[in-house]
Amino acid sequence: MGAADPKTTSIYKFGGASVCDAPSIQNVASIVERYAHGHVVLVVSAMGKSTNRLEQVVRFWFDGQRPEAAEQAGMLRDYHHDIIANLAENSASKRKLMAGVEPYFSQLFGFLSEPTPPVASYNRRYDQLVGLGELISSRILSDYLQLRGIDNQWLDAREWVVTNNTYRDARVDWEATRAAIGTLNSGEDKCRVVQGFIGRDVVSGDSTTLGREGSDYTAAIFAHCLDAGELTIWKDVPGVMDADPRRFPFARLISELPYDEAVEMTYYGASVIHPKTIKPLQNKGIKLRVRSFLRPELPGTLIHEGAESGQRSPYIIVKSPQALITVRTRDFSFVAEEHLRLIYSELYRLGIKVHLMQQTALSFRFCVDDDPYKVGPLLEALSPMLETEWEGGLDLWTLRHQSDRTEKGLLSGRKILVEQRATQLVQLVLK
Ligand code: ADP
Ligand code: ASP
Ligand code: MG
Repeated sequence: MGAADPKTTSIYKFGGASVCDAPSIQNVASIVERYAHGHVVLVVSAMGKSTNRLEQVVRFWFDGQRPEAAEQAGMLRDYHHDIIANLAENSASKRKLMAGVEPYFSQLFGFLSEPTPPVASYNRRYDQLVGLGELISSRILSDYLQLRGIDNQWLDAREWVVTNNTYRDARVDWEATRAAIGTLNSGEDKCRVVQGFIGRDVVSGDSTTLGREGSDYTAAIFAHCLDAGELTIWKDVPGVMDADPRRFPFARLISELPYDEAVEMTYYGASVIHPKTIKPLQNKGIKLRVRSFLRPELPGTLIHEGAESGQRSPYIIVKSPQALITVRTRDFSFVAEEHLRLIYSELYRLGIKVHLMQQTALSFRFCVDDDPYKVGPLLEALSPMLETEWEGGLDLWTLRHQSDRTEKGLLSGRKILVEQRATQLVQLVLK
C-alpha cells in the first residue's frame, strides 16, 4: 500500500443480480479478493429486485393502502434479514450486520407512519424512500467484506454525487461532483464501497436518484472524477452480446467495441449498460470492461477508443413493452406544425422519450414506453385537438448491420406494424 496513483484506480460495479442472496455476496467478496488491487471503488446496486419492491411500497403509501405498503416493507426487511442470517458465521457477526441496516429500516417504517402525502410530492418522496435499497445493500456488503478481512471504507454517495432536484431523473452537477470525488484520490490505496443510483440536491438537502438502472452511471461518474484506469461492470452475462441472450439463445459475445458503437447500442435500448454510462468514460478515455460475475476468469467485452471500428458487428436490440400512438386531425386536414408543436410540448412536459416516429400526410405515429402513468395523460392532453389511437404491449426491434437473410429469419411469424429503414439500420414495431 502506498500513495494512490490516479491511473491505478479501478472501479467495480456490482448490480442487483450479483448481490441477490448470500452465496452471490460471497462470490462478490471472492472477486474483490482475487481481482481488486490498489485503489478501488466498489459501486453497488440494491439487492435483487429490491428497487421494484420499494417502488411498490411508495405506490401503496400514496394510494393510502397502508397495510399493503407495510407488508411490502416487511417482506423487504425479511429478505435482507435472511441474507444476513445466511452470511453471518456467528452471532457476533450477525449482530454487526443487523446493526448496519437497522437505521434504514427504521427510516423506511418511519416514512410509512406519516400521513398519506399529497400526489404532487410523489417524485420527491419516491427518491427519499427508493434509494434506501442501495444504502442497505452497500452497508451489508461493506460490513461483510470487513468481516472477511477485506478492509474497506463505506461512503454515502449522497455526499459525493451532487445533483439538481429533478427527482427520479436527477442531473449531475459535474463541477461540484468532480470537486468532491476528486479529493478521494489523495492518500493511501483503499477499497471503498459506495451506492449506485443515488445522489443529493445540495440546495434542499434531499436525496435524489439518477433514474432506474442508474448504478452503471454512478460507476462511470466515479471513474470519470477519479481519472480511473478502468471501470469493470460485473453482470450475469459473459459481456455485451449481439442480442439479449435471454430472448435470443444464439446471441454471441462481442469481445471489443468502440465507444460510439456502445453509445449507439444503449441508445437503441440494449439494457446491458445504462445509456448515460459511456460518455463520462469516453471523455477521459477510460476503458469499460463488461464481465461475468459467474465466470470472472473470462475477459468479457472491452469498450475502448482503440477498438476496431471498421468492422461493425450486426446486433439486435429489443425494447419492450412499447406503445404505438397514432394521431390525426379531426377534420382530416394535414398534420401540421401547430399539431407537432402540441405533441412535442406535451411529450416534454410529461418527460416521455420517443423511440421512433413516422409522419404521413394525414397522420403522425410514434412509439414510446408503454407506461400507463404517462401514455394516459399524454392521450388526454392531445385529445382536444387531435384524434388519438394507441396500441400497447408491442416490441420495438432495432437491427443494425444486419443482412436481409438474417432479418427475414428473425422475423418469421411476427406482424410488422411500422417499418423504418436507414443505412445499416432497420427499426420495426412488432406485435
Ligand atoms: P444489473 O445486475 O447490472 O442491473 P441488468 O440486469 O440491468 O444488470 O443487465 C444485464 C442483463 O442485460 C442481462 O441479464 C441480459 O438479459 C440483458 N441484456 C440485454 N441486452 C443485452 C446484450 N446485448 N448483451 C448482454 N446482455 C443483454
Ligand atoms: N437499483 C436501481 C434499479 O434497480 C439502480 C440500479 O440497479 O442500477 O433501478
Ligand atoms: Mg439492472
